[in-house]
Amino acid sequence: MINFVTRFAPSPTGYLHLGHAFSALTAYHAARAVGGRFLLRIEDIDEGRCRPEFEDAIYEDLEWLGLQWETPTRLQSTHFNDYAAALEQLREKNVVYRCFKTRKETADEIARAPHLPPDGPEGPQYFGAPLTPMEERSRLTRGDAYAWRLSIAAARDFLGPAFERLSFIEEGLGPNGEIGFVKAKPEIFGDPVIARKDLGTSYHLASVFDDAVQGITHVIRGQDLFYAAHLHRLLQTLLDLPEPIYRHHRLMKDKNGRRFSKRDQSITLRAQREAGVKPSDIRHSFDFR
Ligand code: GLU
Repeated sequence: MINFVTRFAPSPTGYLHLGHAFSALTAYHAARAVGGRFLLRIEDIDEGRCRPEFEDAIYEDLEWLGLQWETPTRLQSTHFNDYAAALEQLREKNVVYRCFKTRKETADEIARAPHLPPDGPEGPQYFGAPLTPMEERSRLTRGDAYAWRLSIAAARDFLGPAFERLSFIEEGLGPNGEIGFVKAKPEIFGDPVIARKDLGTSYHLASVFDDAVQGITHVIRGQDLFYAAHLHRLLQTLLDLPEPIYRHHRLMKDKNGRRFSKRDQSITLRAQREAGVKPSDIRHSFDFR
């Protein structure tokens, strides 16, 4: 039997819109075309931003669109322990460090640097360092909050030449026409936060872990996440997780050429449905039957 498993992984922070419909249909049809499997994952680690009513709406809207997925659906909010265990593995390898700095403190530090670092996918690249054990102990005793950052320098040391060989296969298209063999450059993120102060994990860690647990062979998602694959390949390698194939798809744009956004209520699937649009109209508008 063919081993093709893909997923749609929305965050329940708003109603699904036409951009999500395109993404979900792209993954669904890719699986159907080869007799593969299509899974759903609810990325709800950010409990401050996610709402149960948006989760319910995801199921309702995807069913309305005509999609079927395997159950049970994986809910990230029920797997915080797994992500903590993955973080522990990274700690054992000494490739992460505690960062007590506030956003403002890192921004000020970047501004003070002799050369302004380039922007990465998540803002200016920030390369930090752990505190001395004594400083760290005193901050911990004070109960100060900290995030965990992945140290690119430590990861490079840990992996040796394998760091330079990190790569992935892009079967879709990156925003700059990247296709086929892509050399992964995780350093474009600086030292990324992989466990947030408030959550104990991050999108990157949870997503990479779950793709492996769910046996995802093909990560199909929007081009806005193309650069995340550079970092995800490093995390997969450090955590001994399998390498999926990537297919990043183009992003749907509105009439003015802007990306569909959660703020635009008119393009939510609910608004479309209320306006009398049929699921088949949406599928056909994207060239899906
Ligand atoms: N949860 C992410 C989003 O809604 C998608 C993550 C992924 O597909 O890797 O944008």
